[in-house]
Amino acid sequence: MKIGVLGGGQLGRMMAIAGYPLGIEFGLYDPTQDSCGGQVARLYNAPFEVTDELKKFVDEHDVFTYEFENVPLELAEYIVQRKPLYPGKDALYYSQHRLREKQLFVDLGVPVTRFSKVDDRVSLLDAATEVGIPFILKTTTLGYDGKGQYRVTSEAELSELADKLFPEMGEACQETSYAGVNEYIAEAFVNFTRELSIISVRDQVGNCVFYSPAENDHRDGILHLSVAPAPNLSDEKLANLQGYAQKLLEKLNYVGVLSIEFFETEDGLVVNEFAPRVHNSGHWSMEGCVTGQFENHIRAIAGLPLGVTDNRSVSAMYNLVGHDVDRSAMAMHDVHVHWYGKDIKPKRKVGHVNILADDYLQLQQKIDDVDALVK
Ligand code: ATP
Ligand code: MG
Ligand code: MG
Repeated sequence: MKIGVLGGGQLGRMMAIAGYPLGIEFGLYDPTQDSCGGQVARLYNAPFEVTDELKKFVDEHDVFTYEFENVPLELAEYIVQRKPLYPGKDALYYSQHRLREKQLFVDLGVPVTRFSKVDDRVSLLDAATEVGIPFILKTTTLGYDGKGQYRVTSEAELSELADKLFPEMGEACQETSYAGVNEYIAEAFVNFTRELSIISVRDQVGNCVFYSPAENDHRDGILHLSVAPAPNLSDEKLANLQGYAQKLLEKLNYVGVLSIEFFETEDGLVVNEFAPRVHNSGHWSMEGCVTGQFENHIRAIAGLPLGVTDNRSVSAMYNLVGHDVDRSAMAMHDVHVHWYGKDIKPKRKVGHVNILADDYLQLQQKIDDVDALVK
């Protein structure tokens, strides 16, 4: 079997690496010539459009998946007319647009923060009464790693932002918009105690498995550390997280790995967003679980039985963002360095370290020891 992956970054790369032991071949499609996935699989290098190269890519593979949610829908459509694409077009349709995504969660009965649509000056100013201050304004499309977001914590900041984004009545300012997007969602600020994510997988006949939810810490809007299983998670919240994930998996007739981010608050869980793909907050599962997320994603889309997701111990994933780690870290027991083969640049995810331990106390000690070796 040959699997074609849209996107040739580290996620596509790790999918290929996980699939090779199963005898599966991989091709990756990415507009960036030096995509790191190209070091482990054939890279088809062309824009994300229905190009001749895309047609060739589709002809030469049997099953398709993607490593990022901004695959153009026309391109997805071209593929589904010809070959299987998992998780499929519906998952893209909802995850590409934050208003559709939030409304989907409302329809499924998953708790969301108050939100409203903003697409001009009036609707931005109205957000103060609709969702209340403080709120976060996010572009409906194309944002990631906290890009395309603005925080509003006072009336003064609100009018400042209105002047910046919509200086004229009804006219959006192209220069100040992120990626040319002039449609936003205003989200009431969630006073969370911590952030959680759950990775789940559904196969082609509808079986679902769940990974232990992880607790996630961000730095400058980028994931820094995931700890799994999330410490002190009540059985009730665990059941809720799995139930919410199952609803979404079934609603989207999903095949593959699905990731959902949540806020934990004093009053319960609030969903943030989902990603229809393998996820950075699930990388700990590569060594931390009997079957890691990349292998299970490949199993699902290849029509193979899913592997169990039992934990081998407690785990952490320490992200290498703009920094390398001294390889002496690997001398520590059950510490695993994953390097993506990219040039180091500020804020760029260049690798991660998976850290396993017998208990949370030992885990924290090992995290600190790894931290000291990051350079
Ligand atoms: P990702 O790289 O995870 O796709 P993103 O750009 O899609 O990020 P979000 O996950 O929506 O952005 O937001 C980034 C971070 O900002 C969240 O992990 C959280 O820490 C904070 N945040 C987002 N929305 C809210 C909110 N409504 N209330 C409080 N904090 C929030
Ligand atoms: Mg996101
Ligand atoms: Mg997020």
